[in-house]
Amino acid sequence: MSALINLYEFARSGQRAEGELELIRMLRLESPKREGVLRWQAVGFVSRQKKPQLDLEIAGIVDLVCQRCLEPVKLKLALQRRFLVARSEQEADEVPMDDDHIEVVVGSESFDIEALVEDEVLLSLPLVPMHQDCHHPELRLDENKALSESIEGKAAESKPSPFAVLEKLKSK
Ligand SMILES: [Zn+2]
Repeated sequence: MSALINLYEFARSGQRAEGELELIRMLRLESPKREGVLRWQAVGFVSRQKKPQLDLEIAGIVDLVCQRCLEPVKLKLALQRRFLVARSEQEADEVPMDDDHIEVVVGSESFDIEALVEDEVLLSLPLVPMHQDCHHPELRLDENKALSESIEGKAAESKPSPFAVLEKLKSK
């Protein structure tokens, strides 16, 4: 099935589409086994400001490798994204980014929605996938938790706490 759509028309007339992206076709995914599918659903609409928009939902399970024990770890994905559909790269650059809940995508009359699905999945993967508990690897890694844990972990390593900085200032 081809997933090429006229994204402007799709949004303007409020169309819906859904499909399954086979993981085996996600060539950029680094995974020990690219099995199964990701289900996606796209809904076009026009915002109150008369801007074409796209809601995209993606769900499925991706197999990754735990960077702590090097065993497989399953990542359950449940992504929801909202996009403003821009006419050009230039228009996309000019969109004020005051809303964290919306992304910008440059539309096309033959837009490859599966490529967008793949991009969003790859962007959502944790930099360092890990089991919550390597001794009980059947526990599924939760996407958001994994992300915040890896970010917090890094922040804690690299940044001294503000109190430590204060202590230093006091002692000078
Ligand atoms: Zn592990």
